Amino acid sequence: MAQKQWVYGFGGGESAGDASMKALLGGKGANLAEMSKLGLPVPPGFTITTEVCTEFYENKRTYPAELAAQVDAAMAVLEKKAGKGFGDASNPLLVSVRSGSRASMPGMMDTVLNLGLNDETVEGLAKLSGDARFAYDSYRRFIQMYSDVVLELEHGEFEEILGSQKDLQGYSSDTEMTAEDWKAVVKEYKRAVERQLGKPFPSDPKDQLWGAVGAVFASWMNDRAIFYRKHNNIPESWGTAVNVQAMVFGNMGETSATGVAFTRDPSTGAKKFYGEFLINAQGEDVVAGIRTPRALTKAARLEMKETGESLEEAMPAVFAELVAVYQKLEAHYRDMQDLEFTVERDKLYMLQTRNGKRTAKAALKIAVDMVGEGLITTDEAVLRVDAAALDQLLHPTIADGYTRDIICRGLPASPGAAVGIVVFDPDEAERLAADRQKVILVREETSPEDIHGMHASQAIVTARGGMTSHAAVVARGMGRPCVSGAGDIRINMKAGEFTAGGRVVKRGETITVDGSAGHVLFGAAQMVEPELTGDFATVMTWADAARRLKVRTNADTPHDADVAVKFGAEGIGLCRTEHMFFDAQRIASVRKMIVAETQGARIKALDELFPHQRADFVAIFKAMGGRPVTIRFLDPPLHEFLPHSEEDIAEVAPSLGVTADWLSSRVKALAESNPMLGFRGCRLAIVFPEIYDMQARAVFEAACDVAEQGAAPIPEIMIPFAITKKELEILKGRIDAIAGEVFGKRGRKLDYLVGTMIELPRAALRAGEIAELAEFFSFGTNDLTQATLGVSRDDAGRFLGTYVERQVLTSDPFVSIDADGVGELVRLACERGRATRQGLKLGICGEHGGDPASIAFFERAGLDYVSCSPYRVPIARLAAAQAALARKG
Ligand code: PEP
Ligand code: MG
Repeated sequence: MAQKQWVYGFGGGESAGDASMKALLGGKGANLAEMSKLGLPVPPGFTITTEVCTEFYENKRTYPAELAAQVDAAMAVLEKKAGKGFGDASNPLLVSVRSGSRASMPGMMDTVLNLGLNDETVEGLAKLSGDARFAYDSYRRFIQMYSDVVLELEHGEFEEILGSQKDLQGYSSDTEMTAEDWKAVVKEYKRAVERQLGKPFPSDPKDQLWGAVGAVFASWMNDRAIFYRKHNNIPESWGTAVNVQAMVFGNMGETSATGVAFTRDPSTGAKKFYGEFLINAQGEDVVAGIRTPRALTKAARLEMKETGESLEEAMPAVFAELVAVYQKLEAHYRDMQDLEFTVERDKLYMLQTRNGKRTAKAALKIAVDMVGEGLITTDEAVLRVDAAALDQLLHPTIADGYTRDIICRGLPASPGAAVGIVVFDPDEAERLAADRQKVILVREETSPEDIHGMHASQAIVTARGGMTSHAAVVARGMGRPCVSGAGDIRINMKAGEFTAGGRVVKRGETITVDGSAGHVLFGAAQMVEPELTGDFATVMTWADAARRLKVRTNADTPHDADVAVKFGAEGIGLCRTEHMFFDAQRIASVRKMIVAETQGARIKALDELFPHQRADFVAIFKAMGGRPVTIRFLDPPLHEFLPHSEEDIAEVAPSLGVTADWLSSRVKALAESNPMLGFRGCRLAIVFPEIYDMQARAVFEAACDVAEQGAAPIPEIMIPFAITKKELEILKGRIDAIAGEVFGKRGRKLDYLVGTMIELPRAALRAGEIAELAEFFSFGTNDLTQATLGVSRDDAGRFLGTYVERQVLTSDPFVSIDADGVGELVRLACERGRATRQGLKLGICGEHGGDPASIAFFERAGLDYVSCSPYRVPIARLAAAQAALARKG
């Protein structure tokens, strides 16, 4: 049987791999192979594949049997290409060892440089380079790095040794150290290693190599790597590759240098060569920030008012070669590249190229520019921009470089940043906002009765709750920044203050909330307003041309509707009517309706609400200018509208014309132990049909009012929380009758639909018969996730984090749809619904409607539209386009 190939060589005129082999060779390895294929100056080396990493972990941390022989053979080829010998004292080959997974993962294992040095080869290096100081400096760097990264020894002692040598000689900087000084340091370093390790520092280059290779594979499972993977959705199964490469030295004197470069500006996207370098330095010096790197180009140097020469001025020939290389690489990869290079005695070497990370703003500009330059198509441009990253452009943000005084951290529940004064009470928030004060609402957690206060606030902070807690969902819907689950916060309402991490913040003090980072800061941070540039609009037009899914919005107010239309929403997919019930003027009528003991009293209260509700719908229909509007009838458990504390009950009772005692007993009677699975949704209307009757009448009257003035709206009435066809039969029957009545009276007939939410497993399973009556389905994936997984939306924060960390679940199912479980129900309901009713309109209005990964799933499931909060509409448009293009392949 042919042996499996575990090792791939590159450089020196021949390469076994290429850029398409990222899964096997990792990004770094694949690109090194590709660069050498392009004839660029890449120091030779070899890549140990990611499959070795996978085998290593599957087989109790042992290597495949053939690996050692394949590495030996690759090393022999490398020696030949380099014209040096690994461990050869007279002509030593030194190598670097670096990790490199499929996706770039900063924070994994650091690099080991100068591997292959020992007491003999260092002498060879001194002779070859003619520079003993350089040789011993390299040796001490190697011992230091290897001890840190591979042997995991305490590095404090190394710093002490270096410090005392400098003190002894009266030096103030490393540059004053002589060859003899470094030699003395090396000796002490080796002693320190032997003391800590209980055995000598490995002197055999082969042992050193296997130590470093093992450390790279082990680093795949270190805490930093696990954390990074979790936050970037990188599967553990990908593994990392190891790249072993002949060393080139940027620290061989004034004709040597090392640097990093971007082919375009990664922060603005401007088409200019951008980067930094250091003369007489190794790569780590640029990153470590010990010396300040200099600009590559003369123009940048002048712009930054630097005095030291740029690379363009210091090494014009090398610079010209580097320019030719970068232009070749960008044209070849057809994307902005992030490069690492080293100059050894006036000769340029390329150590890395990869697609450069960039801000959302830069991504848009680069995509549009590259279409203009004929480098990429508009579809490719659409695929180049990270949809989720657009968030950066849709909310005010804290200025880069602002020094944050962080009070506490929580979940980044709703993006953007805002400044305001601390308030704890929603009514006070509303009052102060009416006085044009900017306030930030800080609560233990929020409930629907806090909505007016949330709306009046610039941002919301809660001590409890997860990413789909009430505060988080509502804040995202309103476009308010929110930090939820800031567990350190202790609110003392009586004292009018909160404490966090031992610090006290009083009511009325100014704070800043960064909902993108999950930070709460002292004082007013410096802010930057959102900027929708021309490039952003251009990419959106291309996205619209590429997508199939329509994008609607979840909006309850004309203002939200306006914002969403500005961002390109094609309709409202969810108007939660209960949010209209919390208005200060109406809440008394709502409460009367709830506590009513007779149908007559209930109808009287509903009659009071009717004109308000009709006015709400008129305003929303107008804002949507003829676009479809899905109106969901009352959904939450009624007790949410009632006061609960004795104090509140006493305050509210007079406005309802009842005694506090009576109200208190009514509140108790209405209490439920599990309200989310209790008397809510259409169950309310089955028991009290007059509630939906009033809402239906308000919808049809409003539609007639608006139609009389111009653009006729298409109301889509949505029944929440249904589980049977029978519920729809009863409720749709009444709605149709009211429509007939209103249209008869007004002398006009308008199109409308009656449909249902699919947010409970039974509804999904019985979708076939439900579709006999429902004219559309909208998946309420928040409740569907809660009910399918049996995980409470509000309490999930306690354990979901651990579930994701330990990979019990791959991601938070309330953020990204659980495609295997909840998704299976969605697929099944689509299939069964459409089998009954051909062309049944299918949408989704849960929080997942604004999540790119979920949108890709909904595209594949064949839905007609997704609906998300106004501020996510552009993200959804782009993600829908990317999903459609991905399907086309
Ligand atoms: C849902 O359950 O997904 C939904 C949109 O409804 P709500 O979040 O209002 O329960
Ligand atoms: Mg729901």
